[in-house]
Amino acid sequence: MIDRFGRPIEDLRITLTHVCNFKCFFCHMEGEGDSFYGVSRQGIVNVAKVSREFGVRTIKLTGGEPTLRRDLFEIIGDLSSLGFEVSMTTNGFLLSDLAGKLKEAGLSRVNVSLHGSDRNSFKSITGVDGFSKVLDGIRNAISVGLKPVKVNIVVTKRNLANVEATISLVDSLGVDEIHLIEMHPVGLGKNAFDSHVFLYDLESKLQKISIKKEIRSKHMRPRYVMPSGMVIEVVKPYANPLFCAGCNRIRLTSDGKLKTCLYREDRTIDISNILDKGDIAEPMIRSAFEIAIAIREPNFKYKL
Ligand code: SAM
Repeated sequence: MIDRFGRPIEDLRITLTHVCNFKCFFCHMEGEGDSFYGVSRQGIVNVAKVSREFGVRTIKLTGGEPTLRRDLFEIIGDLSSLGFEVSMTTNGFLLSDLAGKLKEAGLSRVNVSLHGSDRNSFKSITGVDGFSKVLDGIRNAISVGLKPVKVNIVVTKRNLANVEATISLVDSLGVDEIHLIEMHPVGLGKNAFDSHVFLYDLESKLQKISIKKEIRSKHMRPRYVMPSGMVIEVVKPYANPLFCAGCNRIRLTSDGKLKTCLYREDRTIDISNILDKGDIAEPMIRSAFEIAIAIREPNFKYKL
């Protein structure tokens, strides 16, 4: 289904839990409050089933830290058997143990966040001495075939000087894709916004060394193919109407709301009390989707 701005809904992003074992200083917490409970497995399945009728084909699991959710394998199994491509964004800390089981459960691919190029820079951003564990997690994700393996790097003033070193390191691991992400002023990112940097300078460096440029329809993100074959996608959400024009995402929050935009707290529909209510759940979730799609609007727009 297409919203009033001609944007299809194709991707459902589910916050499985707010609990996290890292303390990234800029965390946007998926634009949600501080609730620590997550939607039940049945509620997630009900929302996913209905979302399919509206055109959703891919599901991204996030958090908090999604690998801390106890019924994670069961949820992945449910969603993949409904026919979705299921991927997950993780800090990678537990991936060296979990990657094989995640693949078996039906996870297609993984994005691992890695915001530093060495132990100290990593720790100063995440608050955790976990650099080598996360590298092991990335290696394991590659070896079990959670492909394409993507690495997310949120670029801020704190890691700008070592972003190129992080890119080289990630390339040497054999990762398929890097997402260089500009910091959103959302959640902790609001107070940390003095660390924000625009990515234009980095992008023009990439343009010079890349062998090909593509544009992904999702968020109109530019993608640069490096000589090694690794792709670097540049995610520039802030004050960028093109990014919003290409948004095909709807969100299920950990406290059971359909959220239509990362930035907006008002454009949400609370379905927490109907999510797993037997036979009436699906028709009521269906109505909630219709309303959510009707009220969905780009946060940043060009004025004509
Ligand atoms: N705990 C997991 C992780 O660290 O990847 C998943 C949750 S995290 C909120 C999802 C993604 O959003 C991560 O790649 C993270 O680095 C990114 N992120 C967090 N805060 C951000 C912000 N203020 N701006 C841009 N990206 C952010």
